[in-house]
Amino acid sequence: MSDQVAPINESQWEKLKVKLKKQVGDTAYKNWLKQLSFNSIDKNVITLSVPTKFLRDWIASHYVEKIKLIFKEFDPKLDVLKIVVKSNGGRIVPGTARLLTGVQNKKRQFDVRSNQGNSYPEDFGAPLDPRYKFENFVVGKPNELAFAAAQRITEAEKVTFNPLFLYGGVGLGKTHLMNAIGWQIKKNNPERKVIYLSAEKFMYQFVRALRYKDTATFKDQFRSIDVLMIDDVQFIGGKENTQEEFFHTFNALVEQNRQIVISADKSPSDLEGVEERLRSRLGGGLIADIHPTTYELRLGIFMEKAKKRGVEIPPKVLEFLSHKIISNVREMEGALNRLVAHATLVGRPITIETAQEVLQDMLRAHDKKITIEEIQKRVAEHYNIRITDMHSPRRSRSVARPRQVAMYLAKSVTSRSLPEIGRKFGGRDHTTVMHAVKKIEELKTVDSLFNDDVELLKRMLET
Ligand code: ADP
Ligand code: MG
Repeated sequence: MSDQVAPINESQWEKLKVKLKKQVGDTAYKNWLKQLSFNSIDKNVITLSVPTKFLRDWIASHYVEKIKLIFKEFDPKLDVLKIVVKSNGGRIVPGTARLLTGVQNKKRQFDVRSNQGNSYPEDFGAPLDPRYKFENFVVGKPNELAFAAAQRITEAEKVTFNPLFLYGGVGLGKTHLMNAIGWQIKKNNPERKVIYLSAEKFMYQFVRALRYKDTATFKDQFRSIDVLMIDDVQFIGGKENTQEEFFHTFNALVEQNRQIVISADKSPSDLEGVEERLRSRLGGGLIADIHPTTYELRLGIFMEKAKKRGVEIPPKVLEFLSHKIISNVREMEGALNRLVAHATLVGRPITIETAQEVLQDMLRAHDKKITIEEIQKRVAEHYNIRITDMHSPRRSRSVARPRQVAMYLAKSVTSRSLPEIGRKFGGRDHTTVMHAVKKIEELKTVDSLFNDDVELLKRMLET
């Protein structure tokens, strides 16, 4: 009996492809396997081709066994699969043929990196913002983990955690840190390819590729990237096709040991409309959350930004601002800009009074005429204690902590002074209030559940 296998004709190949599609599912088939062409059979060796090296590598690491099984069903003698890269003109790209016998050493497969073929166009990512560098990022308790992790990525030769997932509310510095990573790597290792883009841009590119039936090129664009940063991935929620694509791109890059940095406004497990396996993949590296700013951090940021602008702002005014403009750093910058612009225009020194005048609306937003009594009532309800405990001398933790929360809220959402607040809490001293504010800020940074709780109370009061 001859060991020669009969060649496969067009309709047989089509049938095999249908089987393959059933095996891997429509999406994966469309994304990865549709472009497979049949080339030849020689003894026990099947040769297939794809248009790009990236596709070849991808198929090699994910679908070899499935493809082989299907050929084996067709003829048991077929047990070696060879996938070659054929450019569109049908020419085999030199050095790209590879025998795929059994389980492959993935690492070897993926170590091959080449600059031939179409690399990603320069406009694929977004340009880095020159204002956002590590040097002008002010570090404090709420962001120290994120900052350290971001720096680590620029130092590491090897990938230590993948992905780095940065999350936190708006205006707290996620985009700043990602840009800073980009700049630092450009400085340390200019040969490393760093791509920064928003999740929206990623989506846009993908949808465009789909429209032009060019997902292969889309995938290829990623293959020479060393560090991929995608900002605001919460926008991927609910967009199934993009998620699928994102997931595959993600896996491919992780397997190739490339660094990925992701940001979002929520933790991976809280991302809405995102598939479970993608969520768990996103949370599989280091998760670093950026907490809301503390008074100390705000003061540090105000000082730094004032210095940068070369304007003299009295410490008392900076302290005042740090107590009042609390929502996020972007708003703080806005407040400072207005104050400086005003002072320059009218040529008067900046005082607390001018700040109050110029920033009236911003300050009022936080004031909203919330009374201390109302805060006490809400907080007591929330923690299920009696309102009288807000004034009582009792010091047991179960009432003292809620009381401190109420003092903290009184300080952050009203414009009452420390002594005024103290008086409303059973005639306590202003240092007691100050201590409470410090204590709560501290707890907020170390205990995220507690932080959420207090933030929730704050929002309830402000709306
Ligand atoms: P996010 O992406 O988290 O919404 P951004 O990174 O855009 O926030 O930050 C908003 C603004 O606040 C930017 O101008 C940024 O430079 C500034 N900023 C945020 N955090 C800091 C910080 N720790 N030190 C200095 N500037 C900061
Ligand atoms: Mg941002």
